Amino acid sequence: MIGVGDMVLIEPLSEDTFIENLKKRFDHSEIYTYIGSVVISMNPYKSLPIYTAEKVEEYRNRNFYELSPHIYALADEAYRSLRDQDKDQCILITGESGAGKTEASKFVMSYVAAVCGKGQEVNKVKEQLLQSNPVLEAFGNAKTVRNDNSSRFGKYMDIEFDFKGDPLGGVISNYLLEKSRVVKQPRGERNFHIFYQLLSGASDDTLKKLKLDRDFSKYNYLSLDSATVNGLDDAASFRTVRNAMQIVGFMEDEVQSILELVAAVLKLGNIEFKPESRCNGFDESRIKDKNDLKEMCELLGIEQSVLERAFSFRTVEAKMEKVSTSLNVAQAQTKTHKKVMGVLDIYGFEIFEDNSFEQFIINYCNEKLQQIFIELTLREEQEEYIREVSNSQYMKTNRKWSSLTNKNGILAMLDEECLRPGTVTDETFLDKLNTVCAEHQHFESRQSKNSKFLTDHSLPHNCFRIQHYAGKVLYRVEGFVDKNNDLLYRDLSQAMYKANHSLIKILFPEGNPAKVNLKRPPTAGFQFRASVGTLMKNLLTKNPNYIRCIKPNDEKAAHIFTDSLVCHQARYLGLMENVRVRRAGYAFRQPYEPCLERYKMLCKQTWPHWKGPARKGVEVLLKNLQVPAEEFAYGRSKIFIRNPRTLFFLEEKRRQ
Ligand code: ATP
Ligand code: MG
Repeated sequence: MIGVGDMVLIEPLSEDTFIENLKKRFDHSEIYTYIGSVVISMNPYKSLPIYTAEKVEEYRNRNFYELSPHIYALADEAYRSLRDQDKDQCILITGESGAGKTEASKFVMSYVAAVCGKGQEVNKVKEQLLQSNPVLEAFGNAKTVRNDNSSRFGKYMDIEFDFKGDPLGGVISNYLLEKSRVVKQPRGERNFHIFYQLLSGASDDTLKKLKLDRDFSKYNYLSLDSATVNGLDDAASFRTVRNAMQIVGFMEDEVQSILELVAAVLKLGNIEFKPESRCNGFDESRIKDKNDLKEMCELLGIEQSVLERAFSFRTVEAKMEKVSTSLNVAQAQTKTHKKVMGVLDIYGFEIFEDNSFEQFIINYCNEKLQQIFIELTLREEQEEYIREVSNSQYMKTNRKWSSLTNKNGILAMLDEECLRPGTVTDETFLDKLNTVCAEHQHFESRQSKNSKFLTDHSLPHNCFRIQHYAGKVLYRVEGFVDKNNDLLYRDLSQAMYKANHSLIKILFPEGNPAKVNLKRPPTAGFQFRASVGTLMKNLLTKNPNYIRCIKPNDEKAAHIFTDSLVCHQARYLGLMENVRVRRAGYAFRQPYEPCLERYKMLCKQTWPHWKGPARKGVEVLLKNLQVPAEEFAYGRSKIFIRNPRTLFFLEEKRRQ
């Protein structure tokens, strides 16, 4: 074993020894390390030969501690306890952009697909589950400065199994798709992959039907400075995506509709407006060159005059905001008893130089996830103790952890402000925030447990600062109100609803004149809060498994380990706390059989074979080695060892 496989056993424990251990293992391509049952995953930025069919076999049905740390061990444990103990599972994957979350989620899914049932029907479902990835990535991922294949949405997928543990299907929810990327991309970044894939990979015939040109430079929405990405073959990906769409179950005419929509968006981006002064003194916008508009209308079956009117008389710019809520892509339908494995791949905590509404929302979600983490880890620890040792002392010390019912004060306040009659601006919102927070000394009680609003008069005038569990973040208030309102003018949705195009009609139900709803649509913040709330409730009903992803460097390079960067991530992922929680109770727990197997050579009575219950064997062994009684506790099925030193002592003896 290179370094220490389980951080719980590090001695002495400090941030330095923690990072040092990660580094040592990383240098030897040991990218996985445990904290108890939590898996830390370092992005190797190179392909490792550790995801082969042989590896799958190796980890299959094996105990967590028997083999060196691997994401497969976690996947195996989760799958087995789902199948054999009927416990719904969730796999929570967190980490910052480029840390390897999406890759990890795919490894978990392919492991589970490899070990669960066989047969024609089952294989079809598996294939559909796996092939949902290329489709989602085409439409939801983009090259960013941090990651060439960055997910611009959060994803939660419930994989459903029958009583035998065979997969039945999946339900996917998306969070926070970064819609604004369609319109504008930061320097050095691209639009969503699908645009480039379509132009590079579609046949001449298809492009002609879609009225498209192969040349990226013809489209305003496709930034030029980084249109091609090293290592990305857009044309090949297009074929993969087309094939995947078919496997997932899209009909040929549906695929066609989707591609028409993609083409229409590219056309939309080319429509430019020019101001035109009218004799009554008002400025009006007019469309400069109508060819793109005409082609877009043809693609979508919209009458040109209708759309033109909608564009010109209300909005000058087609505005798309960043936040969206869950959208079901696939719905598995079965009424039988289902077991569920949820896989969550969502943005990690973000602290940029300039933090806006999007970061606020993302960090809000991470704050909730962190609470869940604490809640569930401790719950799990407690349950194990109750089950195994019934240690009431332990229960007492951990009662202080709260439930998850707290509302987030700031989002609620933003909503109150957005819905208030009168003039509402980002500044009025900030004023309100400052006033309310200054008045309420205990403001944090309105917020999530770990974060608090910081009053500080030295802040720039348009900012506020929050102390999150992961650090202080300065938010600039500009755009909060607009982004939260997330309005699409009714003229536009009505124009779109008139399209003779089934997909577009589905996408703009609010444009249906028969269903004019004068109530305001819910705000982005409200929708997000609601969907995060549902997600958290859902997660709380499941047994959690954690994968904490870490990015070793900012260069996307193999072999570089930047200490400060890793340290920063370890801090805001709360990894040290995680180790401490584990060590506060009994650090090490292991079922009696493997424990006896490992150490039986240290005692004459147990070597080479112990005849009798394994628990008794372990008792004899520890007594014989004179390990002090307060150092361990006998659970029903496991031995609990309090201090890692005891374990070292045992390991040391084995080596002698
Ligand atoms: P984002 O939040 O931007 O979506 P992410 O955490 O999902 O980021 P990934 O897309 O999973 O990050 O990983 C980024 C890149 O790092 C991958 O495209 C791949 O090149 C590399 N990578 C990640 N994990 C592994 C791994 N286990 N083995 C090899 N390469 C990996
Ligand atoms: Mg990702």
